[in-house]
Amino acid sequence: MHIVQVVLDAPIDKYFDYRYQPSSGGEGMPLVGQLVTVPFGRRTAVGLVVGTGDASDVPPENLKDAGYCFQEIPPLGKAWLDLCRFAASYYHRTLGEVALSVLPKMVRQGKQKAIGKALAALAQEQKKESPVPVDMPVLNASQQQAVETILHAEGFFPVLLYGVTGSGKTEVYLRAVAEKLRQSPDAQVLLMVPEINLTPQLEARVRARFPAEDIAVLHSRLSEGQRLRNWLAAVTGTARIILGTRLSVMVPAPNLALIVVDEEHAPSYKQQEGLRYSARDLSVWRANYLKIPVVLGSATPSLESWHHVQTGRYRQMALPERAMEHASYPAVSLIDTSKEPIVDGLTQPLVEAVRRRLAKGEVSLLFLNRRGFAPVITCNACGWVSQCHRCSAYMVYHKAGRLLRCHHCGLARIVPRHCPDCGNLDLQALGRGTQRIEENIRQQFPEARVLRIDADSTSRKGSLQKALEDIYQGKVDIVIGTQMVAKGHDFQNLTLVGVLDPDTALFSHDYRAGERLFSQLMQVAGRAGRSVAGPDANPAQVMIQTRYPGHPLYQAMCQRRYDAYVGELMEERRIAGFPPFGYQALLTAEAKSIDKAMAFLQGAKGLIDRQQGITVSDAIPMAVMRVANVERAQLLLESASRPALQGVLSDWLPKLKGLKTSVKWQVEIDPLSI
Ligand code: ADP
Ligand code: ZN
Ligand code: ZN
Repeated sequence: MHIVQVVLDAPIDKYFDYRYQPSSGGEGMPLVGQLVTVPFGRRTAVGLVVGTGDASDVPPENLKDAGYCFQEIPPLGKAWLDLCRFAASYYHRTLGEVALSVLPKMVRQGKQKAIGKALAALAQEQKKESPVPVDMPVLNASQQQAVETILHAEGFFPVLLYGVTGSGKTEVYLRAVAEKLRQSPDAQVLLMVPEINLTPQLEARVRARFPAEDIAVLHSRLSEGQRLRNWLAAVTGTARIILGTRLSVMVPAPNLALIVVDEEHAPSYKQQEGLRYSARDLSVWRANYLKIPVVLGSATPSLESWHHVQTGRYRQMALPERAMEHASYPAVSLIDTSKEPIVDGLTQPLVEAVRRRLAKGEVSLLFLNRRGFAPVITCNACGWVSQCHRCSAYMVYHKAGRLLRCHHCGLARIVPRHCPDCGNLDLQALGRGTQRIEENIRQQFPEARVLRIDADSTSRKGSLQKALEDIYQGKVDIVIGTQMVAKGHDFQNLTLVGVLDPDTALFSHDYRAGERLFSQLMQVAGRAGRSVAGPDANPAQVMIQTRYPGHPLYQAMCQRRYDAYVGELMEERRIAGFPPFGYQALLTAEAKSIDKAMAFLQGAKGLIDRQQGITVSDAIPMAVMRVANVERAQLLLESASRPALQGVLSDWLPKLKGLKTSVKWQVEIDPLSI
């Protein structure tokens, strides 16, 4: 009797035994790491083979037959299985949940025909033309040193590549990739980026540099067919370059020789639903397991990675200069809004600076991380505010269509003609969003070509691409945008960045808000002066409007000294015992009433019987307590020791899973915000 042991995408932490009857076709037994279809309950599921044998503890009459074994897909390999095992134990999920959930949908659903067709098509694909040499810049000394350090590394070798936008990090990645691919005919490299749709230029650059390579792009916007094809290309080794977002960290590539994580600090490396993993952390684990180098690149590294450099675990390589000729860093200056009044969002010095750009045909970018026209409307007579009745949040005023929209639950309604409470006709829009700035700018500069880029202006498919094209083609004078414009784009002729209202982040309940603001400001500042019009162009300049020009964040920003600000943040974190000096796990609960959610969490807290080495907070409502009529609360576990925290979780979570409750709960390890 042939027995296969499989894991399934289920929260049950066990191996399931099935009988396997090789078909008359004579195919052999399934191997560990292969996929089989099996009957599970009333449905047919796809399982991952984790063991084979000739006996089972299950009585023969209860033993069911496995179905089809996908022997056309190579076994997914021990290294990949161990990665899944690690992720499962660290994030407290079952192996089956992890392993199956990271497969392309068509594989997970056992779409035999589609898989067969995709594999056949892959085999048919012509090997591409032999590489046409492309122009490559001569590396500067820092780049050269970084590349050599990465390539001469033996075994596990994490490098933090620290350099601002334009310092030539990508060029370093590409050289290291090229050399790894040259060294071995089956070597594969994994290149991770935070958000692929915002960095189409990188994909184009990689394709241009490696014209002969099959590049497997992996991200969530692909069609299922494309994702299947690219995943199979990685698994079979056809693709030697894998370029993807966070989900690509789990791709079963059999011959990885190098991993690169660009913008390693980016919050989008953290999966925020389902299996809440950190792709950056898993990539480091994976490199360690495989004994290969991993390059983490950033202008504003996470404090976690910075700390690893300070403690000697990672090697830091800095790229201190802008790589391209004729590109300089913009000067950063602060506009003190206690002295310069803000009129409709803008101070006079900023307006004048925009005017100077217009006069020379240069581009200005105004950055405001708040979309809509105004964040709230209110009644001057009775104090009514546009509260969302489903969320603990205000509804944002959108002028087009005269709508109030909740940015948490999506609810929209027409702006009332008069106050719903007192009937007063005089409703006022408080504060400013991008739409209001756009209106103001159009009034001040009627001759200018103005373009707003935010989630509202780009909601139609292709509209972001179109907007960016317009900027590239010089059809825009003034861009107004949210963080969507901060990333990656290489705008020509842009010499001014104005930052309108960054101060709110200084007083956020989120202890990472400062770090994030600094990184956003560096990113958006990096848009200025990348390629400058000519010798008599305005100097590239960043102007930040703030009430707190003395704040260490802005002071460090002016000197472009992230390290100065990090020093400050590190000290705060050390005193508070926050990451990277402490480890956290967050239990969140969702229920119809806040009392119920809180009671569940207090009860859950009572089930922790071994509290040595950890501290457990009281249950508290979440910062935005109610979203779409669901009330949310949280309980925080902290420890200075990762093993102590993991030990408690391993004891405690099985007990929680045993509870019968209507409360929806989940636990997140290393939460980004608490
Ligand atoms: P980053 O990834 O740090 O933003 P890039 O690698 O994209 O930096 O480099 C910024 C620009 O400078 C790109 O246009 C790139 O082609 C160019 N560049 C990079 N290295 C050099 C170099 N050594 N000499 C000249 N140009 C370079
Ligand atoms: Zn009123
Ligand atoms: Zn809402």
